[in-house]
Amino acid sequence: MNVIGKVTVLPQLPPEIARLSELAYNLYWSWTPHAQRLYQDLSPELWERFQHNPVRLLLEVDQERLNAAAQDPAYLERYAQVMADFDAYMGKKDTWAVSNAAQMKPVAYFSMEYAFHESLPIYSGGLGVLAGDHCKSASDLDIPFTAVGMLFHQGYFRQLFDKDGWQNEAYDELDLTTLPIHPAVNAAGEEVRVSVRIAGREIAVKVWTLQVGRIRVLLLDTKLPENSEEDQKLTARLYGGNQELRVQQYVLLGVAGIRALRALDVPAEVYHMNEGHAALMSLERMREYVAGGLDFRTAHETAASSTLFTTHTPVAAGNDAFAYDLMDKYIGEWPGLLHAGRDELYGLARHDQQWDGHMVPAFSMTVFALNMSRAANGVSELHGEVSRGMWNFLYPGAEEREVPIGHVTNGAHNLTFTSQRMRDLLSTVLPADWTERLEDEAMWQAVEKLSDEQLSDVQREMKREMIAFIRGRVREQLQRNGASAADVADVGSLLDENTLTIGFARRFATYKRATLLLRDKKRLAAIVNNPERPVQFVFAGKAHPADNPGKAFIQEIYRVSQEPEFKGKIVILENYDMHVARHLVQGVDIWLNNPRRPLEASGTSGMKASFNGSPNFSVLDGWWREGYDGTNGWPIGEEREYADLNVQDDADAFDLYQRLEHDIAPRYYGKKTGDESWAHTVRDAIETVSPRFSMQRQVIDYVRQYYIPLSLRGARLSENGSTRAREIAGWKAWVRQQWPHTSITAQAHLPATARPGEKVTVSAQVDPAGIRPEELRVEAVLKRGDEVRRFPLTHGEGQSYSAEILLDDSGLYSVGVRMLPLIEGLSNDLEAGLIKWA
Ligand SMILES: *Cc1c(COP(=O)(O)O)cnc(C)c1O
Repeated sequence: MNVIGKVTVLPQLPPEIARLSELAYNLYWSWTPHAQRLYQDLSPELWERFQHNPVRLLLEVDQERLNAAAQDPAYLERYAQVMADFDAYMGKKDTWAVSNAAQMKPVAYFSMEYAFHESLPIYSGGLGVLAGDHCKSASDLDIPFTAVGMLFHQGYFRQLFDKDGWQNEAYDELDLTTLPIHPAVNAAGEEVRVSVRIAGREIAVKVWTLQVGRIRVLLLDTKLPENSEEDQKLTARLYGGNQELRVQQYVLLGVAGIRALRALDVPAEVYHMNEGHAALMSLERMREYVAGGLDFRTAHETAASSTLFTTHTPVAAGNDAFAYDLMDKYIGEWPGLLHAGRDELYGLARHDQQWDGHMVPAFSMTVFALNMSRAANGVSELHGEVSRGMWNFLYPGAEEREVPIGHVTNGAHNLTFTSQRMRDLLSTVLPADWTERLEDEAMWQAVEKLSDEQLSDVQREMKREMIAFIRGRVREQLQRNGASAADVADVGSLLDENTLTIGFARRFATYKRATLLLRDKKRLAAIVNNPERPVQFVFAGKAHPADNPGKAFIQEIYRVSQEPEFKGKIVILENYDMHVARHLVQGVDIWLNNPRRPLEASGTSGMKASFNGSPNFSVLDGWWREGYDGTNGWPIGEEREYADLNVQDDADAFDLYQRLEHDIAPRYYGKKTGDESWAHTVRDAIETVSPRFSMQRQVIDYVRQYYIPLSLRGARLSENGSTRAREIAGWKAWVRQQWPHTSITAQAHLPATARPGEKVTVSAQVDPAGIRPEELRVEAVLKRGDEVRRFPLTHGEGQSYSAEILLDDSGLYSVGVRMLPLIEGLSNDLEAGLIKWA
């Protein structure tokens, strides 16, 4: 045919089901399987082909099919139920926030990546899932919250294995018309554009909105005709480029992100930096204050007073640091805009690095984030501890435990990852409103009423679905790689539904040690092929495109999976994403995680598995160190670190095999009822992990520990044109200048030995160099083992200070005396950054 033109006829929703379109644009459907089913039923084929994307499905579906659904009473009944649930969710008045967080001010949350659903691939892994889940629970709890991120047109990447199990990356250009996003419009209904100057180029940024239940996510986009081709690529790929691109993306997220909030009149009084990627938001926030007439230091105090920073990684490569001259290129104008010296600004981010054998100053995103916030946290108790150690050097004179980095242990959004079958089963024993109080530990005790049989029935169904899914995926992969018909046919015997099935899926960062299981292949072969108690494994995960060692891990597992004794029993699946993740956490019997402790800041996939009754089997790192209670899963290795990594790997691998052979497999294939039955562990896992590691608990912790206190501090420091912030800034400058002129000497009158209950006298002589006594804390510090206690000394005659200190328990005490300057309104005692020990 000679084509003279083309036209697309878009299907029209019949009025009976008109709201399918509205619902498609609210990610409420992403954690609501019965809502998803409304779309799936219109065309199961399109649903699968387009990554379960309702917007796309409504663009592609046949008009006839829509008309038929609109006349189908059963469909309409389900439609009405979904819409009623959706309306109840959106319209709910007596929410958690109304009763618990009325004084909270609106939060702006910044993250480089978000994982909401597989059809919106703007995430790479756990950090994104955490951010997406945080948004979902912010919506569930109804806190005032807006998220800011980037619209990556090519997302992360699609992972393809070649014939030899080597990872290749494919980048698909997203078609924005098929995504559940709208251009953001201001009150006047006009599309919003903001702009940002980077390296002298004025870059236009379009803002999109994504509705996630009750809250909004703003996504920044530079792919606009008015931008150069280079600048259009700023929002092409997540973690795609070199350092130069990274810095520019950070400027974009931080600076354009704040401008987008302002352009849309989005209220924000607390700012949450999710990882150091977001730290440059502070540049723009300080600029606003400077433009409003504040000096740099007062602007710094004001901006920081309402900012929270969450750090996510103890791995050095995860904490970006850039050479100063690179920063000059991209933020060179900012010292001028902020009326600050270059060294004054960069000094807030300075972290000297060993480069080419020299120590050179570098601009660290983490250091900048720590200095630009007045609250910081790690993402598990152990990670908090590790972070305090890592960043102790920023607080000279402070004990590690005093470093002002706390922790909120991560959670996961239960409903996003819990299978519909498990939800239905839970609904038979939990109260009607269980999905609204997921963090309620007492409520979850009702899980004990579930019978062994009920649980195993649901789990068997989920496992069948997973195996079918895996076979389908592997078949596609083999066909694409030109495998023989015999090999393709073999897929039908891949994995066995009666075999204990262990899942391992996550990013293939090397510290996660995906190949630890292969350390003793003979022993593994015996475990896998045990005639009475066989075990099979499913792996999945992406390596960063530049991470060849990570790709080599993938290939190693792939090759092992092709060896005769492992074939069909060890499988590695392509393209790990949220879809694959859901199948695996819902379908396996056990979830395995064996990172090199203490590098797994938290980990969350094991939580998702436990929600579905798959107990966790993991190194006591991150969340599992808190979650494991002796009966709800299994540990690997001991609660310790090793100097020799090889020794650590050996010890952990040995323990892994040992537990599998002696505890886990015998239990799985053993008693069907009672305290030692498999179902008993399953119930414990669901009951204990679901509330404590719910995202709902996590967000509540953030509200109470950080969002509310920062709301109050931020307001206090910024009121009346930042009067208090100015006083604090002035005071800090003054004490820093005086500090070198101060001095302290001290004596402790200590007997050689003492009895519990005895008192000792500690005294000090201080030259405060003009710092007022009420602004100086002179204190004795007593250390006994891990315990550190502080006792203020009382100001006596002249320059002397003293105190009697009770030694209330036995043990070896170390005594020290120090002083530090304090003023009302600081976020913590170390904020001035000055400590002097006698
Ligand atoms: C939960 C999840 C992760 C995080 O897994 P970890 O075990 O915390 O590393 C990564 N990717 C996807 C797709 C997930 O769903």
